[in-house]
Amino acid sequence: MSLDNKPLYTGGCQCGAVRFRVEGALDKPSICHCRMCQKAFGNFYAALATVPKGGLEWTRGEPKRFRSSSHVLRGFCGACGTPLTFEAPDGIGLAIGAFDHPEEIAPVMQWGIEAKLPYADAIPDLPGEETEADITSAPYLGELENFQHPDHDTETWPPKGHRS
Ligand SMILES: [Zn+2]
Ligand SMILES: [Zn+2]
Repeated sequence: MSLDNKPLYTGGCQCGAVRFRVEGALDKPSICHCRMCQKAFGNFYAALATVPKGGLEWTRGEPKRFRSSSHVLRGFCGACGTPLTFEAPDGIGLAIGAFDHPEEIAPVMQWGIEAKLPYADAIPDLPGEETEADITSAPYLGELENFQHPDHDTETWPPKGHRS
């Protein structure tokens, strides 16, 4: 929460070159199955939340943008490629997974269901394991050094001595 009680959100890309801050309530978090969102996110669907008008501030860097159609820009980090925005004349959507606390932003709606992949609904029923369950077949997981930006704002990034 900000000083005047507005909800406050932060987030950014995986490498930390682009960071954002949103002040005010997010509108209708949703997922979109449409083919353009699948491509833009390299994923089964996109998860986006609309930011309040004037409530978005880029606090470090700024996304690169690809014009995916006559009315829409897709923003992403030019350094690491993380998908970040859907920018249309009626508003800007931010990628839910890029927020520092995506667990607070539950989707309430699905769009583009005509393009929903045939297995999308079956994913929750697949067998599941934690990341480290794979450690015997992927021993590098045990000595992994993480270069991902942490889930909070930082004074400087990357830290000193960090190789890129
Ligand atoms: Zn990045
Ligand atoms: Zn879409």
